[in-house]
Amino acid sequence: MSLTLHVDGDRWRAHLRDTVAHHPGLVPVTKGNGYGLGLHRLARRAQWLGVDTVAAGTYPELAELHQRFDGSLLVLQPWRPGHGEHQDPAALGVDPDRVVHTVGRLEDLDALADQGRATGRPVRVVLERLTSMLRHGFSGDDLAEAVRRSRRGGLRVEGVALHLPLPSARATLSTRSSRSSHGTEVERLLAEPAVADLASGGGPARQVWVSHLTEAELEVLALKFPDLVLRPRVGTGLWLGDRGALQVTAEVLDAHPVERGDTYGYRGRSAPRRGTLLVVSGGTSHGIGLEAPTGEATLKARAASLARGGLDAAGFVRSPYSVGGKQRLFAEPPHMQVSMLFIPHGAPVPAVGEEIEVRVRYTATSFDAVEIS
Ligand SMILES: *Cc1c(COP(=O)(O)O)cnc(C)c1O
Repeated sequence: MSLTLHVDGDRWRAHLRDTVAHHPGLVPVTKGNGYGLGLHRLARRAQWLGVDTVAAGTYPELAELHQRFDGSLLVLQPWRPGHGEHQDPAALGVDPDRVVHTVGRLEDLDALADQGRATGRPVRVVLERLTSMLRHGFSGDDLAEAVRRSRRGGLRVEGVALHLPLPSARATLSTRSSRSSHGTEVERLLAEPAVADLASGGGPARQVWVSHLTEAELEVLALKFPDLVLRPRVGTGLWLGDRGALQVTAEVLDAHPVERGDTYGYRGRSAPRRGTLLVVSGGTSHGIGLEAPTGEATLKARAASLARGGLDAAGFVRSPYSVGGKQRLFAEPPHMQVSMLFIPHGAPVPAVGEEIEVRVRYTATSFDAVEIS
């Protein structure tokens, strides 16, 4: 009864190795559902790739990572006071010296510095600079102040972090120029005196942790800022960057022929025409959701479609499941762990036990099984 992610192991591993080889300083991002693959698997892969750091999304995720990967653990979610042991590496069973905290407010920086001075173990931090994302981070003035305060002891600053919008958003902004407007945003932010001030100390403070920059943009930055060490944080482009290596299947669990007017399902719906109800694995608990309605929106079009026995007019909604190369309709909204599809008469009906293809968002899907060849 499985929704399964199949991974072509050789192809996937080759892509991982290539990506790391083409992005010096790459930091794999291992967060959330592990991009569909599971955090534990990503941690082991990162160890195999030989990188020095992985990025977790949140503190509790460290528990999944720290025994499978033995390098530094950067936490992307900014540290905040008052979260107590939920943000305390030691309380989570993680060696505090391996954890790099992200900080984006002066009061948080002060609190961590106090902690570092009190324990005599400097706390490792990255200073996040606010970008056009407007998610977290210091303003320009506050970053300059943070760099000054970080010299008072208790902290070991490991550079500046910049989180940028996704490339697709940028592509629409930059029409003809090969360089996006966000490439120039990074350049502007890195040219702020606070960054050079921090980097002047040398060592790990020269690092700049960035996301969502193209290879070309990274090359330009490396030339323009030779004193900085770029650390691209990459999740999707690494783990899911070669979609051809990934395939998702659901199992056909049952198939029931129906005539027009037969009732079925939780809502006692009646079949709009002759066909087969296909019960397949995958439901709301896996993250399987309704797709967009199937076009033909006007009332007139719907009436015409209904007269033809059209399934869209019957309120059927497109599903992410494909049978015979065609995306099929849900016979009703997905259940918790299974879904019901309607296969119209005449279309091929797969046998019980057969696997059919499903299109999913990997970061929003929990698979029953991940099979890596
Ligand atoms: C999730 C995340 C990334 C990685 O994003 P992808 O699009 O998966 O590559 C990088 N930086 C930060 C701060 C993130 O939260």
